[in-house]
Amino acid sequence: MANLVTRDQWNARTHKGHTPLRERPRGVKYHYVGGRVEPDIVKDHGQCVALVKSIQRHHMDTNLWADIGYSVQCCPHREIFIGRGPGVVPAANGPGLNAQHYAILALVGDSGLVVPTDDMLHGLLDARAWLMGLREEEQPCGGEVLGHRDGYGTECPGDWLYDWIRRGHPRPGGAGSPRPVSQPPPWPGRVLEYPPLQTGDDVRTWQRQMARRGWRIDVDGRFGPTSREVARAFQKEKGFRVTGRVGRDDWRAAWLAPIT
Ligand SMILES: [Zn+2]
Ligand SMILES: [Zn+2]
Repeated sequence: MANLVTRDQWNARTHKGHTPLRERPRGVKYHYVGGRVEPDIVKDHGQCVALVKSIQRHHMDTNLWADIGYSVQCCPHREIFIGRGPGVVPAANGPGLNAQHYAILALVGDSGLVVPTDDMLHGLLDARAWLMGLREEEQPCGGEVLGHRDGYGTECPGDWLYDWIRRGHPRPGGAGSPRPVSQPPPWPGRVLEYPPLQTGDDVRTWQRQMARRGWRIDVDGRFGPTSREVARAFQKEKGFRVTGRVGRDDWRAAWLAPIT
């Protein structure tokens, strides 16, 4: 699965011309933002959108590129923002290297948010799987996985991600990974309940996680009767107090409780 955020959805600026890929890329190269990425971004998907937009602004207005340099950008919430997209030469890999790999950006830096969330790691792999599985005319890529620093003089994608690539870029929770299946995102600070109808990214984050666990729920950012029923059923299944509300412990359990 790949949670794609279209250019319209993140309100990308119009690009000034894309170069089509003439040959199938060998694979993907991972990148990071570098510098400081505010850890608050993990709590607020709106900041992901703002960061991607600021990167596009920098690439177009300062680097004078035709568009954001990456093929796609992955945020801490397993969302994949379309950058230049498939079938197009990226600009981020370095001169002479761009057409060889799709460029995938992870929204982590050298300080603040340094280690990707598990959802971001899933997103990085979802993006790769999506790019490999494209239809033939969209230029699906091969299986090679490298970092920006492979073949180019840069710290990118940072030591953590580069080490992860070298360890065979495992899915979180998979063999060889000491990390749990999924780290809960920080508690948003309000109890999700209905009525009244609550909306927001925190609702969406919880819904997406419940959908991932196999519950039938729309990921629409609206905590209504269906979300309440899912919350109740989940509490019942886990032996928690059945309230239909998502408090701090219910929130954490959505990520930490074993899927049964
Ligand atoms: Zn890079
Ligand atoms: Zn996000």
